[in-house]
Amino acid sequence: MSNQSYFGGIADGLKTLGIGLKTTLREYFTPKSTEQYPENRKTTLHVAKRHRGRLVFKRVTEADEALIAKGAQIGDYKCTACTMCEKACPNGTIKITAHMEENPETGRKKKVLDDYHYDLGDCMFCQLCVNSCNFDAIEFTNDFENAVFDRSKLVLHLDKEVYKGGSLPNLIDGGAPLVIGKFNTKTK
Ligand code: SF4
Ligand code: SF4
Repeated sequence: MSNQSYFGGIADGLKTLGIGLKTTLREYFTPKSTEQYPENRKTTLHVAKRHRGRLVFKRVTEADEALIAKGAQIGDYKCTACTMCEKACPNGTIKITAHMEENPETGRKKKVLDDYHYDLGDCMFCQLCVNSCNFDAIEFTNDFENAVFDRSKLVLHLDKEVYKGGSLPNLIDGGAPLVIGKFNTKTK
């Protein structure tokens, strides 16, 4: 190795160090939003609405006029058991069982969901399932407090539950307002 390339290497190293330190210094002075969790879990905790905590079924509401016109009842789930989400899931987190049922009036056959198995413990929260659904039937909530001692309790059957929101007040709406630049320490 020549002296020139030796000193050139040192100069390159110093330049890289300078770039790294510049980023460090910039981030050091950038206002932070730090949550003192779990101390503030019932007071000032903010969790972004778009945070992916767990998958839930969406249910028919008054706004779903088209579905209601087709005979859906408010509170019904929207899943048609088409299995697109199951196919889109990279790691087999979703398992759908269904059967065909014939409408006695029209004679037309329709798929009917028997079980929507979702293993929260396997989920990577990639959202490919939600993106693949053409019926707006599933969504992620930011309900992140899902720790359990028994892993089998993470196996959920979304068609059998009526999800009513998380354990924390207003969490689904993001909880407390996001405060940038403050250390969110208010305790319960
Ligand atoms: S959640 Fe959506 S994609 Fe999955 S089976 Fe139901 S309708 Fe199909
Ligand atoms: S978020 Fe990803 S890993 Fe989880 S169920 Fe959906 S597709 Fe599967």
